Amino acid sequence: MTYEVVIGVEVHAQLRTKSKLFCGCGTQFGLTANSQTCPLCLGLPGTLPVINRAAVEMAVRAGLALNCTIAANNLFARKNYFYPDLPKGYQISQYEEPICEHGWIEIAPADGKPRRVRIRRAHLEEDAGKSVHVVGANGSRVDLNRAGTPLLEIVTEPDLRSADEVVAYLKGLRDVLMYLEVCDGNMDEGSFRCEPNLSLRPVGQKEFGTKVELKNINSFKFVKDAIEYEIKRQTKVLSEGGKINQETRLWNLDRGETAVMRSKEEAHDYRYFPDPDLVPLKLDKEWIEGCRKQVTELPAARLQRFVSEFALSEYDAGVLTASRAVADYFETAVKLFNQPKTVSNWVMGELTRELNNSGTDASVSPVSPERLVSLLQLVEQGTISLKVAREIFPEVYSSGKTPEQIVQEQGLVQVSDEGALDQIIIDVLAKNPSQVAQFKEGKQQVLGFLVGQVMKSSGGKANPGKVNELLKKKLAG
Ligand code: ADP
Ligand code: MG
Ligand code: ZN
Repeated sequence: MTYEVVIGVEVHAQLRTKSKLFCGCGTQFGLTANSQTCPLCLGLPGTLPVINRAAVEMAVRAGLALNCTIAANNLFARKNYFYPDLPKGYQISQYEEPICEHGWIEIAPADGKPRRVRIRRAHLEEDAGKSVHVVGANGSRVDLNRAGTPLLEIVTEPDLRSADEVVAYLKGLRDVLMYLEVCDGNMDEGSFRCEPNLSLRPVGQKEFGTKVELKNINSFKFVKDAIEYEIKRQTKVLSEGGKINQETRLWNLDRGETAVMRSKEEAHDYRYFPDPDLVPLKLDKEWIEGCRKQVTELPAARLQRFVSEFALSEYDAGVLTASRAVADYFETAVKLFNQPKTVSNWVMGELTRELNNSGTDASVSPVSPERLVSLLQLVEQGTISLKVAREIFPEVYSSGKTPEQIVQEQGLVQVSDEGALDQIIIDVLAKNPSQVAQFKEGKQQVLGFLVGQVMKSSGGKANPGKVNELLKKKLAG
């Protein structure tokens, strides 16, 4: 019997708001435990939640980019369960009326065939806190800094058919959310968490098999590993005539296998009901249309435009558009200096190297696009050589000085002036009589040597094209 794998994915994306979903506490990662809490997110009685407008706006922007319908009427529901990191005893989520529904995203999996994955829904909810189990400490601790942070839970239809497709979906989704600046995409910090649901069915069968939900996966590599492990495990169980239990399994990184966390029998009955502290959230059409205007061109489309508009290779366009800040940087520079290939080389080469070395984002690059362009113009005008431009770039980057200033201070202006070059050439020819003789006997290669000597004695500042031309003239004469 051969089986087909069926996968649907749930993603929890943390929205990049400054404050939490229902109170004014901050959302910054990694601060002292419980330093970002207030009576509301501590779940104290007598407090009332107030929805964060920025979170709603981000959810709508994400929904629009994912081709979803946006609900004009939004209900919030209490999802009840008991856990130490959930002080209220319930999580505020959306159940029956999610803010976004019925969307899709196009993915380009490794096998090359682009196709659509349907998004069933995306809803707003608050995050829980964190239990902290310190080895050697007396008991466990709870940190509620994260409690109440806004999440967008994005759920697909069971449309995916392989680990590679899931990874392509997740990468594409993460790119979109990061581009929209609604999620920082940081998987180590839990800003983008993914839970694949996976089942097998005999090839040709219509009904889906029993699914298993996979949790605790925090990198694309582990997504692939966990899914591939689970496919093997379920194939073996089914081939031996066994049954798959509907359960949640955790990916165990050290053992490279999944293990049961809870079975369906232990599954919670969440007793959802509308939160009486929150009125339905009504979004008017105009406001939604305003959000639509903020949905910028998405990475895949921008890549294609870079190829057609700037005649860049797919590879270069892919590198430039992988980060919105880098793509913006490139476009600003090209507007000022209309040589896309040259600008692209500098952005992908010299600039990226300095940004990486100093751990800086392109959006706050100490060398602005304007400043990079002023350097490129110095080369274009023949004021400095390309070699000098490359050599001084690290200093332009670190010193805060303009390229012009550095060139002036260090006397790097390229010498193209015939009078100045003439003198150097005469000296070089006088010092190398045997090479001159060889050239006159027909040994053309000697010219290269002589050009090198002139460049050397000019301290690298002579304009090589000009030197070539003048040397030939002199030797012919
Ligand atoms: P639950 O209520 O257990 O969370 P849902 O029906 O809401 O289950 O689906 C959760 C996710 O699992 C969705 O992404 C959905 O596409 C996927 N899914 C549902 N049934 C199956 C199945 N039989 N096999 C694989 N994925 C499935
Ligand atoms: Mg689920
Ligand atoms: Zn708070």
